[in-house]
Amino acid sequence: MPQARKRFGQNFLQDGQVIADIIACLAPKPNDRCVEIGPGLGALTFPLLKKVNVLETVELDRDLIPLLLEKSKSVGQLHVYQGDVLTFDFHTLAHPPQKLRILGNLPYNISTPLIFHLLAQLDIIEDMHFMLQQEVVDRMAAPPNSKTYGRLSVMVQYHCQVESLFVIPPGAFLPAPKVYSKLVRLTPHVTKPDVVNNETVFAEIVRLAFNQRRKTIRNSLKDKISDAIFEKLSLSPLLRAENLTVRDYVNLANAWIES
Ligand code: SAM
Repeated sequence: MPQARKRFGQNFLQDGQVIADIIACLAPKPNDRCVEIGPGLGALTFPLLKKVNVLETVELDRDLIPLLLEKSKSVGQLHVYQGDVLTFDFHTLAHPPQKLRILGNLPYNISTPLIFHLLAQLDIIEDMHFMLQQEVVDRMAAPPNSKTYGRLSVMVQYHCQVESLFVIPPGAFLPAPKVYSKLVRLTPHVTKPDVVNNETVFAEIVRLAFNQRRKTIRNSLKDKISDAIFEKLSLSPLLRAENLTVRDYVNLANAWIES
């Protein structure tokens, strides 16, 4: 077995029950267009490949690819794209109108930038199942008025329904990471509960608010939002970033565009 490479965030799944539980949550159907990010040694890849007609994967570590391809021959049709998923255009794999089902036991060091990379490509994504550091999943799912509620919570919840599925202990991986992991399901809203007129402005407002999360929103958004806007929205300017709901951020962004 190849040595796990720390710089590629390699912690290989080795617990058969955890692997079976993840596949059960995914519930793949033969014609699903699944894309696995970071197949590694294939712990999830091969059980999944048995259930789908074709499986697409994106792997950065080129040394793992011959092993994956060799082992897949007796299992099914596996495609491996070598490269960095952070620059990967998932539209190249989509066959509209069918959307992609994306999954992965993600390297922790790229998880937040990867989520933002995928949020920009949701038009071709049906759902996503990721194993992430528990703390990152908790941040995604956090409600307002909690310590873990932040920019990631607002941006992910604006676009997707977030389901925190189950905890995975360090011993399920080799080498064992220092932290617990969690499986999360992100399902892009078919109809968004609240819609912004300009996503760039929305992202900027959320970024500015949480950049200085201890300040009042009047202070952190002073270059963008006037007191008149707060008043029009019946939103107290004395609140802090963590007190605002996703809807409040949507309303602020839309009001700022209109002003
Ligand atoms: N899926 C395997 C498993 O569960 O055992 C491996 C998971 S390991 C945590 C993360 C995998 O992502 C490794 O195979 C690693 O080489 C790959 N990887 C790391 N950075 C990547 C990147 N930027 N793009 C694509 N794959 C990456």
